[in-house]
Amino acid sequence: MARLTNWAGNVTFSTRLLHRPASVAELQRLVAGAGRVRALGTGHSFSAIADSPGALVSVDGLPRVTRIDPGRATVTVSAGLQYGELAGRLDQAGWALRNLGSLPHISVAGACVTGTHGSGDANGSLATAVSALEMVTAGGDIVKLSRQAGGAAFAGAVVALGALGIVTSLTLDLVPAFGIRQYVYERLPRDQLDEHFADVFASGYSVSCFTDWRSRAIRQVWRKCLAGQHDPGQHDPGQHDPGQRAPAWRGAELATGPRHPVPGMPAAHCTEQLGVPGPWHLRLPHFRPEFIPSSGDELQSEYLVARERAAEALAALDRISGCIAPVLQISEIRTVAADDLWLSPCYRRPSVAFHFTWVKDPGAVAPVLAAIEDELAPLRARPHWGKLFSVSPAALAGLYERLAGFQRLRAEYDPAGKFGNDLVDSWVPASG
Ligand SMILES: Cc1cc2nc3c(=O)[nH]c(=O)nc-3n(C[C@H](O)[C@H](O)[C@H](O)COP(=O)(O)OP(=O)(O)OC[C@H]3O[C@@H](n4cnc5c(N)ncnc54)[C@H](O)[C@@H]3O)c2cc1C
Repeated sequence: MARLTNWAGNVTFSTRLLHRPASVAELQRLVAGAGRVRALGTGHSFSAIADSPGALVSVDGLPRVTRIDPGRATVTVSAGLQYGELAGRLDQAGWALRNLGSLPHISVAGACVTGTHGSGDANGSLATAVSALEMVTAGGDIVKLSRQAGGAAFAGAVVALGALGIVTSLTLDLVPAFGIRQYVYERLPRDQLDEHFADVFASGYSVSCFTDWRSRAIRQVWRKCLAGQHDPGQHDPGQHDPGQRAPAWRGAELATGPRHPVPGMPAAHCTEQLGVPGPWHLRLPHFRPEFIPSSGDELQSEYLVARERAAEALAALDRISGCIAPVLQISEIRTVAADDLWLSPCYRRPSVAFHFTWVKDPGAVAPVLAAIEDELAPLRARPHWGKLFSVSPAALAGLYERLAGFQRLRAEYDPAGKFGNDLVDSWVPASG
């Protein structure tokens, strides 16, 4: 049996045993009889977060469900569905998710349990769309939790790092389908970002700044601007602000052709730019579903700080740019709205996320992570759960005030730590 690895190939899982149950009943039997077991999504996390000392289980063999409730404006989906597949179906029916990550290839459950996010001042992480979930807990029971039913458990159970159970389905909030025009600007003078951070990020529905920490200028600003109601099947969603495609904006120039955020990578891999209107799901992600996202030969890390500390975080990273740049492919800065999900990196604070796409050399990247973490520690930076970091468990405990509550949830749903692994157990020990 071949060895199993994550998407990036930097993690070889401890087990070769990957179950793919075809029904929830089969999953329940499997979990009840297992010693240690853990869910694997599409494997796009960069750490050993999905690893299991026992068996892995994928829910992508469960019946594929996309059940839209127009009255409640929700969709109930099978947990293993990838966003790309789900989004196409929603758009056909005239609905949308409020936001998406940079790639459509990841599973809904895998993304939500790690707090995966896109960008947008008013857009919460993808987990904030979850209004209900069903999971199989350690004894093989089905547990249903919902925002509506209330109770602390729900806020603790959405971003759960796979530690409470195997999620089989999720119900997500919907909005009417909408259109987006995507504009890429190049060489934004750094002073503009420093002095007008809030305005730069308020200049679109979803805004990303890409920098290499080599030159002072921001290499690219991707502005994804609302283009009116999207009429599924049509590619002209109506009115837009012609000012969005001004040839110059804050000293940056409108790109004359499509761009890829990673230097040297083909722009054809990216979603359509140049202000061509299109449906939300073909503009909000940076990368097209049919191509490898990002560079494909990489590691990633990301740290989120309170938005009001953005200028301090930029200055802190400037101080060590000389150590960041040599191992960096590209860095992305995004904003994310605050939420109430206990283990969300955006818990109770509107956030700015500093993302790093590294060269694929863990030995060279490790000391740079330590340097970034030292610099950002006074800003109480929270690391992305699905990417590489070395923040100590003690420091994590200081960053998440509801960690003890989460441990109690673990004790309730998984008293023997069946769903744990070394990494997750170090962050959130099984017993409270
Ligand atoms: C190229 C690239 C671009 C990325 N872009 C972004 C981005 O824009 N924004 C961002 O925030 N992140 C981004 N990420 C990170 C990515 O979104 C997260 O790592 C996410 O968790 C991946 O989802 P997955 O399905 O691959 O989960 P996996 O990596 O397979 O698993 C992640 C965690 O989810 C758990 N899990 C999976 N399925 C279930 C289930 N059914 N029940 C319970 N637990 C489950 C696993 O046990 C594990 O703990 C990117 C990653 C890559 C490779």
